[in-house]
Amino acid sequence: MSTRPLAGVLGHPVAHSLSPAIQNAAFRAAGLDWRYLKLPVPPERFTEVVRALPASGYRGANVTIPHKLAALELAGEATGAARAIGAANTLIFRAETIGADNTDAQGLLEAISTPVAGVRAVVLGAGGAGRAAVWALIQAGAGRVAVWNRTPEKARALARDLGAECAGHALEGGPDLLVNATSVGLDPSVPAGAALEALGLGGSEPPATVVDLVYRGDGGVTPVTAWATRGGARTIDGIEVLVQQGARSFELWTGRSAPLDAMRAAARSG
Ligand code: NAP
Repeated sequence: MSTRPLAGVLGHPVAHSLSPAIQNAAFRAAGLDWRYLKLPVPPERFTEVVRALPASGYRGANVTIPHKLAALELAGEATGAARAIGAANTLIFRAETIGADNTDAQGLLEAISTPVAGVRAVVLGAGGAGRAAVWALIQAGAGRVAVWNRTPEKARALARDLGAECAGHALEGGPDLLVNATSVGLDPSVPAGAALEALGLGGSEPPATVVDLVYRGDGGVTPVTAWATRGGARTIDGIEVLVQQGARSFELWTGRSAPLDAMRAAARSG
């Protein structure tokens, strides 16, 4: 067994994850002799691999597609956030049990960094990221949280589950805050105009604040981020949200404050 504490990201695929660069930079900046690795694991081996990690020196792990639900299910303890969102993105290996948390919600609020109490928000997307965003905004006291999704039944189910509203289109009701939690913008081969049309944003002005959860590993600007910046919105990109959710995971594993500047610099240099 390694004596050097380890952490890693479990996913399938995981090759393009920025988390190793971000977390290894954080460990270095904090003066911790930890190491963070990519852990490519197919779904059928997920439980077996996770259960073996603590004995191999692992103190924690991040979990990404497609394992977030399985991670919650195998944990012995889960936070209210992870349970309400129905997914875990962070595992903490404790002596007696495996703890699960979901730092996507807190990471979003930290990235927004201004109070959201009373704001009118629309969340685009009803997958795992949309669910975490809706839950986070409701918990933080947003005045209205509405969800729009390409497949409306999923938006209705999410809204019912979490106590949100459904929006008929992206900018319904003139929101103060728009969160893109769809995967639109991820594929650089899709023209920006087509991406904005897919979300019903083409030809419209952005609200005061826009968060785009999507980020590209090559550091390219996504269509929603470009649209928001062009329109003069306060724009928060997916890298900042990624850094903030990673910072919360770092703090859960190490008990130390996350060195955010070092993490941002690592994320932006890939
Ligand atoms: P997911 O569960 O697969 O959900 C994908 C969502 O995108 C669904 O709502 C889907 O709508 C929608 N969508 C896909 N293609 C679309 C299109 N052409 N037009 C309109 N809607 C479309 O994925 P997820 O885990 O929620 O992640 C969503 C995005 O957020 C990903 O790009 C992910 O990388 C990003 N993310 C970023 C962070 C961060 O820290 N920055 C954290 C989590 C996730 P349907 O239901 O109609 O299919």
